Amino acid sequence: QAVKKAVPVSSETRQLLEIAIQWAKATHGAFDPTVAPIVQLWGIGGEHPRIPADNELKKAIGLVDYRDIKISGDTVFLRRTGQGVDLGGIAKGYAADRVTAFLRSHGVASALIDLGGNVVAIGSKKDKTPWNIGIQNPGLPRGNALGFVSVTDRSVVTSGTYERFFEANGRRYHHILSPQTGAPAVSGLESVTVVSERSADGDALSTAFFVMGIQNATELLKDLPDIEAIFVRREKDRYRIEVTEGIYDRFTLLDKTAAVFRLKR
Ligand code: ADP
Ligand code: MG
Repeated sequence: QAVKKAVPVSSETRQLLEIAIQWAKATHGAFDPTVAPIVQLWGIGGEHPRIPADNELKKAIGLVDYRDIKISGDTVFLRRTGQGVDLGGIAKGYAADRVTAFLRSHGVASALIDLGGNVVAIGSKKDKTPWNIGIQNPGLPRGNALGFVSVTDRSVVTSGTYERFFEANGRRYHHILSPQTGAPAVSGLESVTVVSERSADGDALSTAFFVMGIQNATELLKDLPDIEAIFVRREKDRYRIEVTEGIYDRFTLLDKTAAVFRLKR
């Protein structure tokens, strides 16, 4: 509808769109909330996922551009027919922030909110020690952790290839897409975890870092002193875990076959 006329949205939707656009700018479109045309073509997570044809993808890629979202008051307009917004890469984080604010406003001083890959720790545990948040082993069923990070009052969000995918022709197609190629992002990463104050930021950034790859992400992290990250890659027969300096001492390795490195920004 928004390509025909400016459509009214709730103030929450407008706020969320603004945060999404902010991160799209900062990540030079690695995170882009207008990926909807590409997401729809693949249908990953839906009932009929498929590999799109090249010409379809080309057309869809051309429609992806966050600069075409026009917000005016509480209305949203998209410049071109066929464009669409998909907030799947940030909405869960935003929801977690709203739950956090709600609990805090009711005086909750200690809680763990887990929306699946999106965790917010309020305060510390009852015994005053930090919350320990597991970092999923990308190759094993849910619940198997490579290690954990100890936090108080922080959001911990992970984006990984193992979250949602389908298999065709012996290949695995996951749900984090490169707005440039229109295909599942191939950056050598298995997962990216972002530790931040606001979960919406962590959600957008974990998706963006995954698309950008560790080198570009490390470069961007120089401008984001309050953001910490954990990058997991596969290295022959072990996992290589890179942890930014600010949380290096708060990371505990559980999988002793994996190797942990301190990441300087
Ligand atoms: P999860 O949903 O597993 O927590 P993410 O936060 O990484 O994972 O979000 C993935 C979702 O975000 C996809 O299902 C899709 O809706 C959307 N998405 C995919 N690629 C991008 C991208 N490059 N920029 C913004 N959103 C994306
Ligand atoms: Mg995300």
